[in-house]
Amino acid sequence: METYKLFIDNQWVEPDSGTWFDSLDPFSGEAWARIPQGNAKDVDRAARAAAAAMEGPWGKLSATDRGMLLFKLASLIERDAQKLAEVESRDNGKLLGEVLGQVRYTAKYFYYYGGLSDKIQGAVIPNDKPKVFNYTRYEPVGVVATITPWNSSLLLTAWKIAPALCAGNTIVAKPSEHTSVSMFELAKLFVEAGFPPGVFNVVTGFGKDVGEPLVAHPAVGVVAFTGGDEGGRRVAVQAAQHLKRCTLELGGKSPNIVFDDADLTNAANGVVTGIFSAGGQTCMAGSRLLLQEGIHDAFVERLLAICKDARIGNPATPGVQVGPVATKPQFDKVMNYIGIAKSEGARCVLGGKARTGAEYGAGQFVEPTIFTGVDNRMRIAQEEVFGPVLSVLKFKDEADAVRIGNDIRFGLAAGVWTKSLHRAMYMSEKLRAGTVWINNYRNTSFTTPFGGFKDSGLGREGGVEAVKEFLEVKSVWVSTDLEMPDPFIRKY
Ligand code: NAD
Repeated sequence: METYKLFIDNQWVEPDSGTWFDSLDPFSGEAWARIPQGNAKDVDRAARAAAAAMEGPWGKLSATDRGMLLFKLASLIERDAQKLAEVESRDNGKLLGEVLGQVRYTAKYFYYYGGLSDKIQGAVIPNDKPKVFNYTRYEPVGVVATITPWNSSLLLTAWKIAPALCAGNTIVAKPSEHTSVSMFELAKLFVEAGFPPGVFNVVTGFGKDVGEPLVAHPAVGVVAFTGGDEGGRRVAVQAAQHLKRCTLELGGKSPNIVFDDADLTNAANGVVTGIFSAGGQTCMAGSRLLLQEGIHDAFVERLLAICKDARIGNPATPGVQVGPVATKPQFDKVMNYIGIAKSEGARCVLGGKARTGAEYGAGQFVEPTIFTGVDNRMRIAQEEVFGPVLSVLKFKDEADAVRIGNDIRFGLAAGVWTKSLHRAMYMSEKLRAGTVWINNYRNTSFTTPFGGFKDSGLGREGGVEAVKEFLEVKSVWVSTDLEMPDPFIRKY
């Protein structure tokens, strides 16, 4: 079992606490790696190293050379994708095949933002003042703190650090205490790629011990957080106290809306992808299925036909379709929500049970579960479960679908299934969500902004928009006048 150290200033260092905690394999329930338990002193050391790096060789690199380093890192992630996927899957229990695809895709974020590094341009602004030349320049904010959850550690960190590095910042990364190993493996690649000391630092540990001091640290200029909305609120309050910027990618309870004119085969596949891939442990899960009245029963039958024989088991075994829930507390939470749904009167038409037995390891498995007869006021319709549990609701027409779809505090994503262009455009305009998928679900890309409306967050990740979260804009005024006007009278 490997014992990791913190990664600060390109050095592997012991945590100030002198203690380590175990990372557990969600399938076997066994400890498989030892993670250093960081604290405020480690955070201070990392944040100082990151601030110093802004003044060192990294800060002096041309934007083009910065981009070249990101390209190098991307190529190393591609080279080591199998190893990175194995540690990530071992930590979060997601299907190895899916994580491998995700890691390979993670490399593309670094290619994209590497290419963008030397294309961050200010503007020359036509000005009403005579004899001045006014332009803007974009500068890195400085040190960026990333705080990430357990479901997709590498990818979600890349969503933050690729644009932040592209903009010339340095990083202190705090992964989830449940899934830290891939961040250390990524740190090794930063060294191999030739990044100067202090550009990328990793401090592992718990939210209170590491997350809070990181948000409060004076050297940190931006906090990029992904996690639950409760944690996000705490980060936002603390960031406000220190007057620093934060981006928040929070939870969701996204409606996947199927109209009676849709291609129902495609829609059924899209609904299953939306809720059961990654075992529903994804912020963008389409966990509220809205079915137009006339197709309700037949569509539910289609879902049952696709899901009833889903292969549940070891995520490392090829052909397995549903892996374990990532942590024991999360498993308990999902099972608790299944109980809540039943007590609220929803009808369980698929699953609803845990799977135990030798082939299910430590038994952190929840069957793909579908509830029909769900009313939008029920907790199972309003609260994020973050597991393989689908709530099915009925709607009458477009207006009804919009009303139910938006009647929730979240606004991360929505899916719409219809063959009508008019209906698709109407729905994409009316739904209050950061992403709307028409006749597809779960597509995201490094080229495209992603983020939430309402309680689903602040700011955007992906695309050119993401870089702006990590930049300051400076206005520069240059006089072209040979004389200085009267200093006592300000002319407008
Ligand atoms: P979480 O909020 O419990 O933890 C997220 C991170 O915040 C962890 O690293 C944790 O240690 C840290 N943290 C906890 N308390 C903190 C504090 N007081 N200050 C600073 N940091 C603190 O979330 P989780 O359970 O790990 O992940 C599941 C949640 O993440 C779900 O709600 C899900 O919707 C959300 N999520 C959102 C997106 C998105 O892009 N919108 C993507 C994935 C997951």
